[in-house]
Amino acid sequence: HAKNRGGNTYQFFNESMNKNAVRRLQVENQLRQSLRNNYLQVHYQPKVSLRTNTFVGLEALVRLEIPGTGIVSPAEFIPLAEETGLIIDVGERVLRQTCRDMREWVAAGAVQGRVAVNLSAKQFLQPDLTKRIMAILNEEGLAAEHLELEITEGVVMDDPERAIEIMTELNNCGIHLALDDFGTGYSSLAYLKRFPIQTLKIDKAFIDDINGAERDRNMVASIVAMAHNLGLDVVAEGVVDHAQASTLSNLNCEFAQGFLFAEPLRREHFLAHIATTLASLPSSD
Ligand code: C2E
Ligand code: MG
Ligand code: MG
Ligand code: MG
Repeated sequence: HAKNRGGNTYQFFNESMNKNAVRRLQVENQLRQSLRNNYLQVHYQPKVSLRTNTFVGLEALVRLEIPGTGIVSPAEFIPLAEETGLIIDVGERVLRQTCRDMREWVAAGAVQGRVAVNLSAKQFLQPDLTKRIMAILNEEGLAAEHLELEITEGVVMDDPERAIEIMTELNNCGIHLALDDFGTGYSSLAYLKRFPIQTLKIDKAFIDDINGAERDRNMVASIVAMAHNLGLDVVAEGVVDHAQASTLSNLNCEFAQGFLFAEPLRREHFLAHIATTLASLPSSD
């Protein structure tokens, strides 16, 4: 008990709890305001092939852009949206905007492949998830094979058997699935082999020191080998320099995302960026 550790500790504990609560309330208000006024923005980060040095897909990442206030990051408001249930509304808007943008880019011949959208626990467990997603794809005119959904280990391991059913249903509609932040959660290998997924995304935490720490490098090598043995594609998250890209390429990790290639970009800047920057991607050897 903080109370037993003396007055100072108690007070400090209370103060930081207060600050936390105030900040949470502030973010919740910003979130509600953003939903009312359509301040949610979807940014897009390219995914590249380290083998061919080409753009192969993209990930949608939501932001709150409140005029005059600045940008609130999803790391801050997604957990709150999840707790308050607002995530359902957030998720549908992100998916709808993403499908709309992707449809336009695919129709223009500017983008191929898949756009990945992140799903949180509450969204994933909606009883009519597949129906809702198919309805949005339909309304926005995007084919299911252009969509990929990213889920984390925590989301699927909560009730793995049910997760397998949901994932199978999505797969049957032509939607691909990726396991996000791989290595930070608690997937058991027994389930990993049963999950109907197509892609593993190796968490940035393993990539950060891939050249400095032999253990991290070995870990990535093992994850890549295992994923390939299971027939999965592997994406490295958070690649920031050429040395990392080169090591990943040598470890047979084919795909990557990260600031080395591009930060998440506003829709208006995305096409211009992939046309110019990715045309001259750094070579990884
Ligand atoms: P995530 O899905 O693992 O996304 C990757 C995060 O790493 C993104 O942060 C991205 O901007 C960041 N990132 C990418 N490359 C680099 C790099 O080279 N260096 C560094 N330092 N960071 C990099 P972001 O956009 O802040 O999103 C954080 C998390 O919030 C996401 O992690 C995802 O779990 C969640 N999220 C984002 N958008 C959505 C959404 O629309 N719905 C849901 N449910 N969750 C979302
Ligand atoms: Mg993701
Ligand atoms: Mg991730
Ligand atoms: Mg993450």
